[in-house]
Amino acid sequence: MGSRFDITVIAKDSIKANTYIDLAVDEISRIENLISSWDSKSQTSLINSNAGVKPVKVDRELFNLIKRSLAITQLTDGAFDISYASMDRIWKFDGSMTEMPSKADIIASVGKVGFQNIILDETNSTVFLKLKGMKIGFGAIGKGYAADKAKALLIEKGVRSGIINASGDMTTWGKQTNGDEWKVAITNPLNKNKAFALLPITDGAVVTSGNYEKYVNFNDKRYTHIIDPRTGYPSTGIISVTVFAPKAELADALSTSVFVMGKEVGLNRINQLTNIECIIIDEDGNIFTSTNIKINKI
Ligand code: ADP
Ligand code: MG
Repeated sequence: MGSRFDITVIAKDSIKANTYIDLAVDEISRIENLISSWDSKSQTSLINSNAGVKPVKVDRELFNLIKRSLAITQLTDGAFDISYASMDRIWKFDGSMTEMPSKADIIASVGKVGFQNIILDETNSTVFLKLKGMKIGFGAIGKGYAADKAKALLIEKGVRSGIINASGDMTTWGKQTNGDEWKVAITNPLNKNKAFALLPITDGAVVTSGNYEKYVNFNDKRYTHIIDPRTGYPSTGIISVTVFAPKAELADALSTSVFVMGKEVGLNRINQLTNIECIIIDEDGNIFTSTNIKINKI
């Protein structure tokens, strides 16, 4: 998935543990083949190359992932939108951008974005992107989904305890060998050596968004790789969002969404959801938490 996965399992011996890890790796690769936008033969790429042309029949698994993505779009008032992807033609966060895209280019590219133009046909299991040039991408939800699936598979195979860490998208189950809960250390990206909170995760997920390498600076302003699909401009102001949720998929999508919604709206929305919490760090290093998280702010 272009990102690193670390898999921890508790097993009788290392041979057994390695077979479990291999199973998880195969599962993650299987999902990557389905949702990758890089692989031109993936079902996701077929949907994209047929944008404005025709509906594409896809596996139920992909169909349902798209359906759940659209539900998250509703939940976040459009902040989360898998059709953000066409904007990667103008915003590039790999160091190749030398100047800010023009207003006209941004307006044109945002014209190709819009969840309402993703047409699902439940009976035929097809997906149709209405506009030519439209694209979907799972950059903000795919790692979380893969982590959930790898965890579910290992539980099904009888693994009682473990951690799947998809480059910061973490999901755990069971306990450590000494009976303790798994715990996650939260660090401030502005002061990485010092964790400011150590929080237990009991059969749940914790995801941090804020890839500090993927951004560009124009006129002293830092533009991150998370883009507001409603304006076409990258989000600014926040440098890190950590979300706790029962599933990594939802935590992943919501962490990206909070970036776009901003701290007030984002915290407000998170506080309305049961079993979901978040920690936001803004670009001045200030820490904001949802109501049920109690940490010593330093
Ligand atoms: P990271 O783990 O790299 O910090 P996130 O989980 O926050 O990343 O996802 C960021 C990625 O999500 C971007 O690189 C891009 O692929 C995609 N993305 C950017 N903006 C949006 C958006 N508004 N809605 C959905 N996906 C987005
Ligand atoms: Mg995310």
